[in-house]
Amino acid sequence: MKTDVVIIGGGAAGLCAAVYLKQKKPELSVRVLEALPRVCKKLIVTGNGRCNISNKNISLERYHGQNKEFCRYALEKFNLSVCEEFFEKIGVPFIYEDDKVYPASLQAGSVVDCLRFMAEELGVIIHTDTKVTNINTLGKDYKVIANKVSFIAKNVIIATGGLAGGEKYGCDGSMLNILQSAGFGVVKSTPSIVQIKTVNDVTKQLKGIKVDASVSLMKDGQVLRRDFGEVLFTDYGLSGPPIMQVSRQVSRVDGTIISLDIMPNIDYADLCLVIQKRISVMKNRSLEEFFTGMLNKRLGQIVLKLAGLKLSDSVAVIDNAAIEKIAHILKNMEFNVIGTTGFANAQVTAGGLDTTQFNPRTMESVDCKGLYCVGEILDIDGDCGGFNLQWAWSSAMCAVESIVGNSVC
Ligand SMILES: Cc1cc2nc3c(=O)[nH]c(=O)nc-3n(C[C@H](O)[C@H](O)[C@H](O)COP(=O)(O)OP(=O)(O)OC[C@H]3O[C@@H](n4cnc5c(N)ncnc54)[C@H](O)[C@@H]3O)c2cc1C
Repeated sequence: MKTDVVIIGGGAAGLCAAVYLKQKKPELSVRVLEALPRVCKKLIVTGNGRCNISNKNISLERYHGQNKEFCRYALEKFNLSVCEEFFEKIGVPFIYEDDKVYPASLQAGSVVDCLRFMAEELGVIIHTDTKVTNINTLGKDYKVIANKVSFIAKNVIIATGGLAGGEKYGCDGSMLNILQSAGFGVVKSTPSIVQIKTVNDVTKQLKGIKVDASVSLMKDGQVLRRDFGEVLFTDYGLSGPPIMQVSRQVSRVDGTIISLDIMPNIDYADLCLVIQKRISVMKNRSLEEFFTGMLNKRLGQIVLKLAGLKLSDSVAVIDNAAIEKIAHILKNMEFNVIGTTGFANAQVTAGGLDTTQFNPRTMESVDCKGLYCVGEILDIDGDCGGFNLQWAWSSAMCAVESIVGNSVC
């Protein structure tokens, strides 16, 4: 089947590219090849079903990769206001919650519907259940081989994502393997924005408890990443937004530690005074009740146990050394990291196609003219907060602009 542009992968970046391409150049024939029975299966679950579609504070600091400078042009050129206009035009106005951007409907499914309806209206042909298994060159064209049928096109946009979310979202890394076999360099893929597994004897006892904490991922006393928010203790370790935010380095650096400051609004010296004062208030109680009313009861009891105290003892046993120990644990509750809960639970893939092989202004392969890679398959990943979808939109638009500009079809 001959067509002007084949887009491999009908996810966020693939559908955005298809619609944007037909808006810019309606005369081009555009086909989207999607392995799953429907497009954008992952987009439907983004942002807990609300789709955190972008962020007001897009900046390079919120992106990662071996060569993160690569994403600067795309993010600046196809920035939030360009994307807002694009989505407005397909029926999705934006709303803002602090720095986060959402569709006004607060429904990820409606973003998928509007992309899909507009793609169909503009004449994009979508082939579902069509998994691409190889790409060859055929003269100046590409032959894209799928399970059912082959396609011939001058321009191919690869938008097959990474491994995050796993096979239920079509993210099996098959395209990355195909490209690697064809000679493309790949940066090792690891899960990011993911829960962290720790030595779990303490977290198991605290399972289900949530606490606001300052979270630091540490290695040899150095802070690799810090974030603040609600932490959830689980039977495997730690979860919650700040845990996901600091998780990127866990699979990349051995021997890390998570340190929780569960009293982030008070410094160590003042905390010692608070504990001292509390001893006089609670002097007639057992240690079991010492933190009752101040901390989650189970959490308070674990802190005292970690400080080496016996809960059946009286509050009176807390001496100055114990006060310092308790304050230290409240400010630095440490957990040895074992790993993450893996790609199946991750929101994004760190690593992917080495970006030095692509033109940052077009996303086109330096060596293979007409072959573009966009979205998460590239070695660019963002923080939690709308940064990854913004990368999907911006990189897709870059490739489209190049194809339209080249007018080689
Ligand atoms: C639970 C969850 C929540 C998230 N929430 C947010 C959020 O709120 N905000 C945010 O910015 N980011 C979020 N993300 C991340 C965001 O969804 C991704 O970064 C984004 O979808 C990547 O877009 P993409 O088009 O590159 O890949 P994808 O959206 O993953 O699309 C890739 C598509 O390619 C198809 N495909 C793969 N291989 C082949 C093949 N060989 N042949 C044909 N088709 C193939 C897949 O089936 C899939 O449909 C979330 C991710 C998850 C898992």
